[in-house]
Amino acid sequence: MRVFNFAAGPAMLPLEVLDQAREELEDWQGSGMSVMEVSHRGKPFVALTQELEALLRELASVPSHYKVLFLQGGATAQFAGVPLNLATAESTADYVSTGSWSKKAIAEAKRYCNVHVAADESASGYNSVPQPRSLELTPGAAYVHYTPNETIGGVEFPYVPETGSVPLVADMSSTILSRPLDVTRFGVIYAGSQKNIGPAGLCVVIVREDLLGRARSVTPTVLDYQAMSRDGSMLNTPPTFVWYVASLVLKWVRAQGGLAAMAERNRAKAEALYRAIDGSDFYRNPVEKSCRSWMNVPFTLASPALDKQFLAEASAAGLTNLSGHRSVGGMRASLYNAMPLAGVRALTDFMKEFERRNG
Ligand SMILES: *Cc1c(COP(=O)(O)O)cnc(C)c1O
Repeated sequence: MRVFNFAAGPAMLPLEVLDQAREELEDWQGSGMSVMEVSHRGKPFVALTQELEALLRELASVPSHYKVLFLQGGATAQFAGVPLNLATAESTADYVSTGSWSKKAIAEAKRYCNVHVAADESASGYNSVPQPRSLELTPGAAYVHYTPNETIGGVEFPYVPETGSVPLVADMSSTILSRPLDVTRFGVIYAGSQKNIGPAGLCVVIVREDLLGRARSVTPTVLDYQAMSRDGSMLNTPPTFVWYVASLVLKWVRAQGGLAAMAERNRAKAEALYRAIDGSDFYRNPVEKSCRSWMNVPFTLASPALDKQFLAEASAAGLTNLSGHRSVGGMRASLYNAMPLAGVRALTDFMKEFERRNG
């Protein structure tokens, strides 16, 4: 039985995508082989890569002066890839610290350049984002890095920071494709695939052309944006099956109406869940209302002693992977593109019923 899987990543995939992958598993495009078994240099697979890039460009309205790269090592590799490509060992990069993922990005960047923390939301327990004007930006910084959506804390920027001529770098792992975005505001956007793009194993990097060619000489070639761009992200063997499933997911997003339709649906899903949480004294979400995430909704119960029972009964009702990140506890429901509104309705109905019996 298919469940509503609220995992933060790897996350739920659209059933239509899984069905098509199964249909084509043994014989992809009449090749007599699965897509996993064909050459990544062969014509059919090269056509797939072109389609994958074209789909992403179309959906996210990526302008022609941006390169789209498909890299490995997840978003975590880009924690190093960004400073290696954009900063020298002597230069300073500004980082906005809003929770677990930005802290990880900061820790890694410190190995490669000087890091200045332009804002730190620890005082609010990472339940807020800084005011736009409160960022302490370094004049002439190599770049400004931020995390538009903190997947663990469930905190999301309601605005894009203004950084003037300094390139803005965004870790969009848990928010890319969830709504329309203006790529031109960014120097680099990167996103691991296992939330809104497809299975794990791929990191999409969207980089403004003028930022290529600056990688320091020790940069591993597979992390060098210019080298990877020159070879169409195929300097080495790519995770071909992941690219294939990602292309199916992007086609699915397009068939749903693209990012505008995704945004409408995602807003409705998030609103329904926050309404259920705010409408009860039994459930609580700690995040400041203006920056609550559409994608990841953490919540706690009136008594943590009930957590185990909540999770077990939810799971038995087909609502799975609702436990909060091991670092924060409580619950977290991730509502990426593939989660239908029906899944959120099932969850809010369950929550009401659970409160009725245990509140
Ligand atoms: C999941 C996630 C990551 C880590 O991605 P990996 O692909 O596991 O390296 C980094 N940043 C954010 C915001 C994430 O949600």
